[in-house]
Amino acid sequence: MRKKIVAGNWKMNLDYETGLGVFSEIVNMLRDEKQGGQQVVICAPFIHLHSLAKLSAEVLAVGAQNCHAADSGAFTGEISAGMLKSIACEYVILGHSERRQYFQESDSLIFEKTKAALKHNLKPIFCIGETLEERNSGNFFQLLEKQLKDGLFGLDVNEFKQVVIAYEPVWAIGTGLTASPQQAQEVHAFIRQTIATQYGTEVAENSTILYGGSCNAQNAPELFAQSDIDGGLIGGASLKSRDFVNIVKALNH
Ligand code: PEP
Repeated sequence: MRKKIVAGNWKMNLDYETGLGVFSEIVNMLRDEKQGGQQVVICAPFIHLHSLAKLSAEVLAVGAQNCHAADSGAFTGEISAGMLKSIACEYVILGHSERRQYFQESDSLIFEKTKAALKHNLKPIFCIGETLEERNSGNFFQLLEKQLKDGLFGLDVNEFKQVVIAYEPVWAIGTGLTASPQQAQEVHAFIRQTIATQYGTEVAENSTILYGGSCNAQNAPELFAQSDIDGGLIGGASLKSRDFVNIVKALNH
């Protein structure tokens, strides 16, 4: 059975004390209210992760938002996958459109980071998505296919099974514009079909594919009701504990 996941992406928000406070609220609410077997993840800034992992009380998992492809070395300011694993971090977001856009991350670099994460038993949340211009050009399915092929499909099947994919249309991230449930479902079905062609139907059927892009407690139920949407990657709405927990609860309906 496919794993259902709601992952929060705090980006570069919430100072240390505020982050710990929001996280504790989420833990307490989930403990009281969560039903169902969905996995909940908070991907926080690096400085929060060690403390959050200790507070998580097996109610949720902690993830990073990036890692370096090398194990160690002269890479000032960077953090390796092995370092993240050493503080009980379980997930890492890779290939987020903000990393692709602002830090010029290429598909091949993202592939190297994905390999590094898997080597250290971190689960990658691997993001793909098209800009509005690319969507309007009409051939954005080819672009998404290329992101999958160049960034992921060099993995062997056992490696690939550890990866969570997030479809995040760039035009919907932080804009308040959400893909309609039909638009999102169409792309998710395409991604699953592309995985099936590469790794076989069984692997594709068991792959978790999240939707991300202005997902909130209001639109989550309809998005999560689509047959190929297995949860969400949540930016802005993950910064408020009540909103985030309501999105988690929407995945159980
Ligand atoms: C994200 O950055 O991964 C994201 C989905 O952001 P938002 O929910 O704010 O659009």
